[in-house]
Amino acid sequence: MLNRYVRIRILMRLLRYLNPIEHLGEKKYSFIFPFITNLSICLLSEVYSYKMVKNPMAVGAYIIFVNVALIIYFSFRSGIIGGLTATVITVFYYVYIIFTRHYQGTMLYSGLLTTAILFVLYASISFTIGWLKQIIDSLIEREANEKNRLRSVVQQLPVGIVIADKKGKIEITNRKLDTILGQKRHGHSGMGSTLIAAEVQSNGSVSNAQSPLSLALTTGKPVTDKEFIITRPDKKVVYLRVSAAPIRSRRGDTIAAASIIDDITQQKEIEKRKDDFVNIASHELKTPLTSMKIYIESLRRRVQELNDDQAHKILQRIQIQTDKLQELVNDLLDVSRIQTGKLQFTKDEFVLNDLISEIVEGFAESEKKQVIVYSGKTPIRVLADRFRIYQVVTNLLTNAIKYSPPGSAIRIVTKRQDNRAIVSVADSGIGIAKEQQKKIFDRLYQVTEPKEKTFPGLGIGLYISKEIVKRHRGSIWVESQKGKGSTFYFSLPLQKEY
Ligand code: ADP
Repeated sequence: MLNRYVRIRILMRLLRYLNPIEHLGEKKYSFIFPFITNLSICLLSEVYSYKMVKNPMAVGAYIIFVNVALIIYFSFRSGIIGGLTATVITVFYYVYIIFTRHYQGTMLYSGLLTTAILFVLYASISFTIGWLKQIIDSLIEREANEKNRLRSVVQQLPVGIVIADKKGKIEITNRKLDTILGQKRHGHSGMGSTLIAAEVQSNGSVSNAQSPLSLALTTGKPVTDKEFIITRPDKKVVYLRVSAAPIRSRRGDTIAAASIIDDITQQKEIEKRKDDFVNIASHELKTPLTSMKIYIESLRRRVQELNDDQAHKILQRIQIQTDKLQELVNDLLDVSRIQTGKLQFTKDEFVLNDLISEIVEGFAESEKKQVIVYSGKTPIRVLADRFRIYQVVTNLLTNAIKYSPPGSAIRIVTKRQDNRAIVSVADSGIGIAKEQQKKIFDRLYQVTEPKEKTFPGLGIGLYISKEIVKRHRGSIWVESQKGKGSTFYFSLPLQKEY
């Protein structure tokens, strides 16, 4: 005998076969099943009347209910064909009854008339319900086609893609994802498995809740450019950049989310080589530069004795250029210190305003092209690395001078706000477009536009400033409009006692 499990499975299959909803979208409109079923019901009805109750007239109104139910069922299960097959067999059965029971006179007439009316009624039920079913089928098919189209587009994309439903069950992934991950994923489901890629394989360093896909699903907000490091099954370490965005219904509810996974290992390797180069070059340049400065100093003393104006001027220029070179090398050294986590700070208590006044005075002596106005001089005491804050302010001022026209004003303001000291440096220069404003704090980033004048520089000043401010638990930001000038701000937290 069949065991219980097999029996349950057979029963489930049978129920699924009989359930008309299971057949929605199939677009298979067969007449065989309705034909066999309706014929069997008619035969059963005959057996009932002739063999069981032994009264041919016992086929009563109940048969009409059974027939109507069958016509509705088959119209919904097998479309117009199913409904009409049931209708035709039913009507033939009614005619068969009329003739086998020998209806005469008015009974024959009313029997035939009723059959004709029922035929029209049954046919319209079949047409209406069958037509509705076929429309639903077409809609379901259209949706499936669209899904397939999306699936094939997703397959061709050069980045890894994961699309998950509202519950986090993965619905679509592509080949590129398998290549990036170095493995094939099979039928994962549930929120946990949405953390594939960076998410699943980071060996616990990224929790489920932090995965961009989960975040997009739970918060309904996009997550951009999160970087992850994973170790693939073949032990290769891969850097990934992952972004995710929610997919919303027309009503605005989050119904799914999509995540884009990009392999940025090569890019990272190039960056690392660049970093190594900057690191080595800046260290190698430091020693000869220090010696050069010592030689220039002793040469300056000798030239002074010679009283040669021309030689003195040339030497002065050499000195200025060497100082610039040293600043550059120092900046490069700072960059490599930041990269290796070796940027050191010595914090002291000092009055921020005094430092800024000092810097402004220094600039006023050397730079005559712009007017530097410093206001907001209520003393603010801070606990910070004086030299590093000097570096930040100097960098913002140098930029303001560099990127604004001669003769324009540069305004510096210091103020205290919500337990923070805020310094702002405003110029009326070339300004920075909105989309560049975040990037300018990145390492080696410079705004370059084809039509614009190019300015000398390495694009590391703001990067160093950002790191310094960040390490003081402050923040740095810019407000700017292209062509209308920029205002750079940085804040430093104030200790309670100040
Ligand atoms: P650098 O000035 O050496 O290029 P920074 O890191 O100091 O490097 O600045 C990065 C970029 O930000 C600059 O190349 C410039 O495009 C932009 N920038 C910085 N300050 C200003 C400013 N005050 N006005 C307009 N653009 C600026």
